Amino acid sequence: MSRTNYGNLNCSFCGKSQKEVKKLIAGPGTYICDECIELCNDIIYEDSVKATSNASMDNVPKPHEIHAHLNNYVIGQDRAKKIISVAVHNHYKRIAHKSGAKEGGVELSKSNILLAGPTGSGKTLIAQSLAKFLNVPFAIADATSLTEAGYVGEDVENIILNLLQSCDFDIERAQRGIIYIDEIDKIARKSENPSITRDVSGEGVQQALLKLVEGTVCNVPPKGGRKHPQQEFLQVDTRNILFICAGAFVGLDKVIEQRLTKKPMGIGMAKDQNNETQSVVEKLGGIEAQDLSKFGLIPEFIGRLPVNALLQELDEDALVQILTEPKNAITKQYAKLFEYDGIELEFEPEALQEVARAAIKKKTGARGLRSILEQVMLDVMYDIPGNEKINKVIITGDAIKGTGDIKVEEGEKKFKKTEEGTSKGNLSSADGMGNVS
Ligand code: ADP
Repeated sequence: MSRTNYGNLNCSFCGKSQKEVKKLIAGPGTYICDECIELCNDIIYEDSVKATSNASMDNVPKPHEIHAHLNNYVIGQDRAKKIISVAVHNHYKRIAHKSGAKEGGVELSKSNILLAGPTGSGKTLIAQSLAKFLNVPFAIADATSLTEAGYVGEDVENIILNLLQSCDFDIERAQRGIIYIDEIDKIARKSENPSITRDVSGEGVQQALLKLVEGTVCNVPPKGGRKHPQQEFLQVDTRNILFICAGAFVGLDKVIEQRLTKKPMGIGMAKDQNNETQSVVEKLGGIEAQDLSKFGLIPEFIGRLPVNALLQELDEDALVQILTEPKNAITKQYAKLFEYDGIELEFEPEALQEVARAAIKKKTGARGLRSILEQVMLDVMYDIPGNEKINKVIITGDAIKGTGDIKVEEGEKKFKKTEEGTSKGNLSSADGMGNVS
């Protein structure tokens, strides 16, 4: 291949003349312009993305591989991670083996998942981490914003539209994606008896979701909406989309506990003393259909979510682990930010515990950790960039409690040890900064 001036030559692919393009490259008997090369690159890239996702489907990750990946990001919730790893493996195995078609008379059914657990316990994180690991499109929807078709609010079809948007309208990829529907416990039907009048916010939405979750061909308006009445809808088959529905289901553990303690001795309940109830709940994975129906989920909907996992409220130790251990743990992120300024950042163990305690008080699980730290770190992060003297910052337990300051050390940058004494900075004296009640 050579690059020369070819006079009045044209690109063999698009026909444009040499003057109309930036570069024309010659091969034996053919020419190609820079624009066509770019187009070819796009085609090759798209194909390689498809090939990777198809390869991952052919080679379905084993449950222990999925579990190991989740462990990098999700602390605790071991039982839930195990249940989900198996369900996700089975789901993609089912797809890899011809999409739930009958195999020797056995039809593999879909393993949609229901996650119940307090806010900030890792439900969304698990679903997100799964999608990332599997390299499949992912969309999050909020059940409370949905309504039946024809009512004011979001139609369930919009969920599929979000999924399509997440993969640039690649329908084939979207059809193997994961959809996470949050706040599913908030669309309870209002009474135990099915009502005669339509229940827009509750049962109606469950009915609307039923088909989608089970598998249907959904008509979605094309990119940018339907500009002309005759413009065709995009048809997305939801049969192989994995739905993960989640909600706090406040009080569900008590419902389960009650059921377990009331029951006569049964499977897995040889010794059902009170102090053993929790472990029995965990052992059984906890949830049964009857427990969920107490929350106003209709039986048909519960039936579409055969895999159930209960996430535990995170205790102080788990929250401290969350602050320090995951690959992208918050304290690691702060340390990185400080590193850019050549400053070493240290958290005293007591500080981590105080942050965890404050998060427990806020009742927002791990969700509250970041905002607590943001408050405490605000002034120090405001003052430090550009300060050439400081080489180390230590976040103390007292700084978190609001009874002391963040320690600031001066010396040579780049994490070199300094012989200089510590100078106590006055960086946490702003009103209420250290207070994390
Ligand atoms: P929810 O259970 O309400 O869906 P999320 O998964 O959205 O909670 O959690 C909010 C944030 O808290 C996550 O982005 C993550 O940073 C952190 N987090 C929550 N639970 C865990 C956990 N078990 N392990 C690690 N981080 C967690």
